[in-house]
Amino acid sequence: MVMNFLRKLMYGRYGSDQLSLFLLVVYVLLILLSGLPHMGWLSWLALVVLVWDLFRMFSRRIDRRRAENARFLALAGPVVRWLRLRHNIHRDKEHRYFKCPNCGQYLRVPRGKGKITVTCRNCGASFEERS
Ligand SMILES: [Zn+2]
Repeated sequence: MVMNFLRKLMYGRYGSDQLSLFLLVVYVLLILLSGLPHMGWLSWLALVVLVWDLFRMFSRRIDRRRAENARFLALAGPVVRWLRLRHNIHRDKEHRYFKCPNCGQYLRVPRGKGKITVTCRNCGASFEERS
């Protein structure tokens, strides 16, 4: 009964995507932060975010919502990749990570080998590093 009602309600509407999930997380964070002293105004911002999120989910302009989500993913992609890299670096105790001083590429060397000469696999520059 309830599922049927929901299905009818959402028929022809956009529904949820990565951006709507992200907005929901932002909403929850704003609500939590609005509990802090002098931060009560954040609950208004949270309301705006929630209304925007619901507007997107119930929107019938599916093409536009898809384009928004694609833009969001293009923006979020580098951030997600960076967070994943930080996570890997933190977990990997057998390697040392550093940036190539020439091109900025992340390089990985085994730990505990003393001073070694590293050649960047991206630009070919050679330099000494302590591993
Ligand atoms: Zn390089």
